[in-house]
Amino acid sequence: MKHPIFAANWKMNHAPADALAFARQFLAQFPRHNDRTVLFFPPALTLHALTTALKDRPDIFLGVQNIHWEDQGAFTGENSAAIARAAGARYVLAGHSERRHLFGETDEECGRKVAAATRAGLTAVICVGETLDQRDRGQTTEVLLRQLRAAVATIDARHVASSVIAYEPVWAIGTGRTAAPADAATAHAAIRGELRSLTGDRAAAVPILYGGSVNRGNVAALLATDGIDGVLVGGASLDAEGWAAIART
Ligand code: PEP
Repeated sequence: MKHPIFAANWKMNHAPADALAFARQFLAQFPRHNDRTVLFFPPALTLHALTTALKDRPDIFLGVQNIHWEDQGAFTGENSAAIARAAGARYVLAGHSERRHLFGETDEECGRKVAAATRAGLTAVICVGETLDQRDRGQTTEVLLRQLRAAVATIDARHVASSVIAYEPVWAIGTGRTAAPADAATAHAAIRGELRSLTGDRAAAVPILYGGSVNRGNVAALLATDGIDGVLVGGASLDAEGWAAIART
């Protein structure tokens, strides 16, 4: 029986007041569910507003979109994993393609952030995905496994087993193009195989989400696909009614 995860990545959208209005509308349309988990990744400055609005909902957790890999210090503009946790985050995105491609985040930096998350008791949602060019060259599996290995290189198997992985083909993010279910299933199986070699039997419990232009129209088919344990959603999570419909799927 699946216990799917529905994760909303708001990127750089929704100020605190918008988030409060969103939460009111969302909660009215999404009563407590014990058979699924909902995650919100708001901008860091909006986190506090959402922690207050969602405090009575044990089925909903909050996360941050990014952290620094150091625990503290002179890193102007950055937030540590411990600060994020103290502010109410329980999850953190690591290696999102926008961090990799717009901000030049490397595989190694992603690994350092995952390690920092682990030290602070945050669950890392480790994002991996191939570009269109890599896909056309037949390098998808190689890229996914390279990114995954680098992300977990310095954490132990127990912590790998308590992470969440998100397969997000770069060419599908924000483009309206979604991976065909069969291609997503192949990618998820490759990731699961690698998790098995890293963590043994514990790999079965690691949720592997799909992300990339998920919407109300395609979410059911994606969730019915072998190996897809939930979805990471950007654009379609910005509207409360639409996001509630997706999370009720
Ligand atoms: C994302 O930001 O992780 C994402 C999948 O975005 P979108 O749903 O807009 O493609």
